[in-house]
Amino acid sequence: MNLTIPYQLENFIGGNFTAPLSGMFLNNVNPATGEVYGQIPNSNDKDVEQAVAAAQKAFPAWSVTPAEKRFTILNSIADLIDTHLNELAEAETIDNGKPLWLSKVMDMPRASSNFRFFATGLMHFATDSHAMEDTAINYTLRQPIGVVGCISPWNLPLYLFTWKIAPALAAGNCVIAKPSEVTPVTAFLLAKICKEAGLPDGVLNIVHGDGPNCGEAIVKHPGIKAISFTGSTRAGAQIASVAAPMFKKLSLELGGKNPAIIFSDCNWELMLKETIRSSFTNQGQICLCTSRLLIERTIYDKFKTAFAEKVQQLTVGDPMNDNNRQGAIVSKVHFEKIMRCIETAKQEGGTILCGGTAITLTGKNANGYFITPTVIENLGPATQTNQEEIFGPVVTLQPFDTVEEALQLANATQYGLATTIWTQDINKAHTISAQVQSGIIWVNCWLVRDLRTPFGGVKNSGVGREGGWEALRFFTEPKNICIALA
Ligand code: NAD
Repeated sequence: MNLTIPYQLENFIGGNFTAPLSGMFLNNVNPATGEVYGQIPNSNDKDVEQAVAAAQKAFPAWSVTPAEKRFTILNSIADLIDTHLNELAEAETIDNGKPLWLSKVMDMPRASSNFRFFATGLMHFATDSHAMEDTAINYTLRQPIGVVGCISPWNLPLYLFTWKIAPALAAGNCVIAKPSEVTPVTAFLLAKICKEAGLPDGVLNIVHGDGPNCGEAIVKHPGIKAISFTGSTRAGAQIASVAAPMFKKLSLELGGKNPAIIFSDCNWELMLKETIRSSFTNQGQICLCTSRLLIERTIYDKFKTAFAEKVQQLTVGDPMNDNNRQGAIVSKVHFEKIMRCIETAKQEGGTILCGGTAITLTGKNANGYFITPTVIENLGPATQTNQEEIFGPVVTLQPFDTVEEALQLANATQYGLATTIWTQDINKAHTISAQVQSGIIWVNCWLVRDLRTPFGGVKNSGVGREGGWEALRFFTEPKNICIALA
């Protein structure tokens, strides 16, 4: 499973590992060292064409492969991810900059869970029937769509890549998948695992490359009937503008600017511990991370002192060292974007309570991209800092006086992905949960995930839901059959 560094990745098309037809490659950088440590294909429409041809060839057999056989293969993939957990986690950390301990406890276990969950799910997936007394009976078939496209981001590379691929395959589709060009390595290793697990050639095809050349070729290809995309709202809008007029099925999981609403009657210790986690896990680079902390004014000062003190204890450094809580920012481009956002916050009149600076480490990490966890106050809801997604280790604090004001602040952005509520008053929690504009609400917890639940956002955070039956429904086409009763 291990790659010899420097490596040159290959596409996985029709069960073969192949170089891009153009011969063009992109450099891949280790963000904790700043070094180019490998190359990945910069595939284009020609490679995508080959992948679609391979998928179309594989589809007739895969779509009628008995559920039990699909279950066995997908479960074997899950088992092999578990077997290779340490190597995969190390590859993810080198590629992404996230702490190795986090890759081991979160990313890799979830990648295998995704396959195991949908392997089991497909065995239980049932369809509807509607009886019309003595007139007719309807039953609905749910058939695989055909060849589908799955495009994923860099923040949870294998975790989100498999979250799309597993239900698509379980439902009987053949897949053209593209991981982020920033973090391609575990997707390449997954191809090897799928081959070892006995996934038939052409059922899963992985093409590597950037958004404009490779991602767009997937979205534009007329043979690809559905697109499941996770990434920025900007790219999501661009994808929708191409795919919607072609009447492709679309699932878009996009950006967020998630509020945590913290009331004075919360369980203080638990709230503090979990709000640190919800704000800074993965250097704040999780779409579900809380970036706007709304705090009841009566506890605002107490919160800000205690929170800033704990944030300053988060050690930032070499992600391979398990003593560090925070690793590197994923890329130079993203590092520079976050530093610009911190500058903007200062220009807008924000007060930096802690952090706000880049960190220069020594030794092998001297050229890595590291930022101190940053807490900012004194910015109103309309500021750019409180409106635009930063997607890094940066949070703002805003006080509120009433439930109404908390709701107003929570809903005051274009996004609506996740909201976290901290209160011991269950009625208050119900009221806010019903009124907050968010697809996902956590009350007195954060990132507790049951894979059966609908996952996704409202407003500019996306369209459609992933998870559970929602995902299997997305990756199938319903067909109703009405039979008259004699
Ligand atoms: P991105 O939009 O830049 O890229 C995501 C993927 O789309 C990459 O594979 C990229 O190559 C591809 N891509 C880019 N432009 C494309 C185009 N025009 N056509 C087709 N493909 C294209 O996002 P990113 O920087 O990799 O990830 C960070 C973003 O993802 C953040 O906004 C974050 O909130 C979001 N995100 C959302 C969720 C969610 O579930 N809602 C989860 C994780 C990340």
